[in-house]
Amino acid sequence: MKAYPIEELLKRFQAKDPNPKTELEYTNHYTLLIAVVLSAQATDKSVNLATRVLFQKVQTPQDMVELGLDNLKEIIKSIGLYPTKAKNVIALSQKLIEFYHGQVPETLEQLVELPGVGRKTANVVLNVAFGKPTIAVDTHIHRVSNRLGLCISKTPEETEKKLLALIPLSWLHHAHLWLVLHGRYICKSRKPECFHCPVVDLCGYKDKNIL
Ligand code: SF4
Repeated sequence: MKAYPIEELLKRFQAKDPNPKTELEYTNHYTLLIAVVLSAQATDKSVNLATRVLFQKVQTPQDMVELGLDNLKEIIKSIGLYPTKAKNVIALSQKLIEFYHGQVPETLEQLVELPGVGRKTANVVLNVAFGKPTIAVDTHIHRVSNRLGLCISKTPEETEKKLLALIPLSWLHHAHLWLVLHGRYICKSRKPECFHCPVVDLCGYKDKNIL
């Protein structure tokens, strides 16, 4: 089997968007962590609407604890699963104060110990906040990677493993956001927009949507 032209794929994404940025709004490592926790099963847009209000009052774990659970719930009530997310946000803020002097830790192992922080959230924070070469496989990355032929995998965990083996280390940092944004805006779930896809000739998907 021929090796996938991964460098060519990444160069195309780079040419289109040299410095990809997360669409979540944040002001520091802590507010990024909170935004990512709130974004589970919710759109970045809905999270930004709530955090624009929240982050005017809260910039640190101490601010969050002082804000309190009820006030937090009120501010984020438009976000799906908000009661559980609010509890987790207060608990993780307390833990940051207790164990990390109010700072966000920089390792996967420490991050996933925080309430409401799974492997995907931790990898996003490591990538976006600390510039680490991680891939946080969400539904977009999982779909896009399988369609392109970067991997054949059934679960996000499997996709993460295969992408880490395939993508050269020096490209990993930006590859994460390139794949997310490609899935969000071009390689959409129901109807991929293959007719203006910049990597159409590198894609193995059988049911391409070419007008
Ligand atoms: S050609 Fe179509 S299916 Fe393939 S990556 Fe581009 S948008 Fe997705």
